[in-house]
Amino acid sequence: MKTRKPMVAGNWKMNKTPTEARDLIRGLLPELKDVEAVDVVVCPPFVCLGVASVELAGSKIALGAQNLHWQASGAYTGEISAGMLKELCQYVIIGHSERRAMFGETDESVNKKVLAALAAGLKPIVCVGETFDENQAGKTAEVVGRMVWEGLKNLDAEQAALIVVAYEPVWAIGTGLAATPEGANSVHKDVIRPILREMFGAEVGDGMRILYGGSVTAANAAELFAQSDIDGGLIGGASLKVESFTAIVKAAL
Ligand code: PEP
Repeated sequence: MKTRKPMVAGNWKMNKTPTEARDLIRGLLPELKDVEAVDVVVCPPFVCLGVASVELAGSKIALGAQNLHWQASGAYTGEISAGMLKELCQYVIIGHSERRAMFGETDESVNKKVLAALAAGLKPIVCVGETFDENQAGKTAEVVGRMVWEGLKNLDAEQAALIVVAYEPVWAIGTGLAATPEGANSVHKDVIRPILREMFGAEVGDGMRILYGGSVTAANAAELFAQSDIDGGLIGGASLKVESFTAIVKAAL
């Protein structure tokens, strides 16, 4: 029997205009209105957060951003601070592999962003995961372990309790090739969970949610979520449609 409340978060990436975001949320709300046993989060692009926060007001679906800057304000053209996000949303995805691969995100910047988000009262969803080559070279534990240690350093246990970790093997993202439930669970249980326990103590480490992300669909979600240490999912492509996202949320019940 799992004690951690499952979470299903949708990472919309660079998809949906504000109008399309409003329509998708209006589709999700009636489908998910009775879901209480799963924390549901949608993470649209920055420009959709305003309309999304209005549409979601009073509902059980939480709102997240996909990135932030660690500085509070100033001459950082094009960037968005934690304080700005806090007026609109509750969560923020940090260190997604697409940001690490394409936008120079490092363990150091991830850690700065985690600290900035927490200081502003946002709950970070921190992404970690190995590439295909790292996986094939047997480096999964080393790479994922380093990302957890470095990304979550300088946090106290109280702050850590607010963190959600998302294990997203890079080779599984958007490829249709999800990790096996047992393979993903072993990274959660044997690599990430022991580090969280070592960093923040057994009680906090055991209470922190570890989501799986990478080609989760309505067809494979239930089997993944049934694993002992898979506490829900971070969903990319399948979060863009009412039917598939709803089915995945219900698979976590
Ligand atoms: C993601 O980008 O976080 C993700 C898991 O994508 P997908 O579900 O499309 O593989």
